[in-house]
Amino acid sequence: MDPLAQLVQLLREYLEEDEANAPKAHLSHCGTVIYNEEYGPDACDCGYPQQIRDDIAAKRALLDEWENTKAVVAEQEFADGPQAIITAMSQAVAVVAQAYKNRPDFPTRWTDG
Ligand SMILES: [Zn+2]
Repeated sequence: MDPLAQLVQLLREYLEEDEANAPKAHLSHCGTVIYNEEYGPDACDCGYPQQIRDDIAAKRALLDEWENTKAVVAEQEFADGPQAIITAMSQAVAVVAQAYKNRPDFPTRWTDG
């Protein structure tokens, strides 16, 4: 598997963790509200739970787009155009990955400084 595909897989795992930790993240963001299992994070109107969901969805959409683009490019014979697109998409994935650069298992090759 190429390094970027590995990074995408790792990012998908991080996003699952983010999703699982969303109630805790909400609680620490919104100190006046005690997260309640029964009512869930939407019991609060601060907007943070939706923000977390939107953030996760946007990152997943980018990863999906990268995979779709890569699959399309792999089917085509043209050299330059599609390859430039996948290069740009790959850079976008690497940029989004920086949100996770402090995780202990984050690959250092993708740390941008
Ligand atoms: Zn809240």
